[in-house]
Amino acid sequence: MASPLSADRLLAALRAEGVNVIEYGNWRSHNRNHKGAFGPVNGVMIHHTVSSGTDSSVRLCYDGYSELPGPLCHGVIAKNGAVYLTSSGRANHAGKGDSDVLRAVVAERALPATTDNDTDGNSHFYGFECINLGDGDDPWPEAQLDAIERVGAAICRAYGWSAASVIGHKEWTNTKIDPRGFSMGDMRARIERRLGGKPQPKPDGGSSGTSYTVKAGDTLSAVGRAHGVPWKEIAAANGIGAPYTIKPGQRLTLPGTSGPRFEPFPGADWFKNAPHSPIVTAMGRRLVEVGCSAYGSGPGPQWTTADRESFRQWQMHLGDDPEYCDGWPGRRQWDALKVPKV
Ligand SMILES: [Zn+2]
Repeated sequence: MASPLSADRLLAALRAEGVNVIEYGNWRSHNRNHKGAFGPVNGVMIHHTVSSGTDSSVRLCYDGYSELPGPLCHGVIAKNGAVYLTSSGRANHAGKGDSDVLRAVVAERALPATTDNDTDGNSHFYGFECINLGDGDDPWPEAQLDAIERVGAAICRAYGWSAASVIGHKEWTNTKIDPRGFSMGDMRARIERRLGGKPQPKPDGGSSGTSYTVKAGDTLSAVGRAHGVPWKEIAAANGIGAPYTIKPGQRLTLPGTSGPRFEPFPGADWFKNAPHSPIVTAMGRRLVEVGCSAYGSGPGPQWTTADRESFRQWQMHLGDDPEYCDGWPGRRQWDALKVPKV
């Protein structure tokens, strides 16, 4: 699915990944959507601000300036790792870049050198500005690098992308040098390692990812949608019956957001090697359960074209863009199927 995440889903994805998120101003409705499209979105772009000081940097990224109105990004990543959300819509961060790079990001393959600036990046990328002077001397504290890693992983996980979908501004266009001071290749390796595991909240506070405090106006179904958990499961886990009302301040346990109940995504390549595994059987049984079956017999442990066709039906069922409905499982699609642990 390449539509932008709702503000709630973006926030939930970041929190589940252990990001220390701060909602800034009217970030949910602060955007440049009146100036052009936001979406289909295909990746995440990392920048540096060429500034110092958290408060003034965040304000600048939110407001912009006369020649470049804000928001200038979706979030600002401070040196201490805090992430200030400034927009959930179109933002002025990427400018024009190379359509060959966009194609490589969509296909999740190695990036070509940039030559042309022919494509509007603001419609295709989430943008995160990291507070750094960009002079090559200003340090990148580990807390800040850790936050970049978690932000990248959170959005990739939400879409089922690999770390190849996270690029630096300087990889988008030959007119920019940011981010300067760390390697985007190393950062992608960190993100890919993180994506291999389940979302890991930080041990020292932040959101636990398994509980939620009800805010005014929340409903069970809205909380469920924001966290990717069926609302009936939340009701059952918290002993809530009809008429299913919840109150501000109430603490809810969110089932299925942690723990080993479901089989983790085995990776896109795994399926293409025609695996023979009980995971394939478990997946097939789930596909049959949700009414996406092209099986003449089985399902069984050997990956076959019937598995691929059944999974394609699931992708269609999720409402994904046809270009993502090729029967090869992606991470988000796999997680949505909830294949029981084998
Ligand atoms: Zn930039």
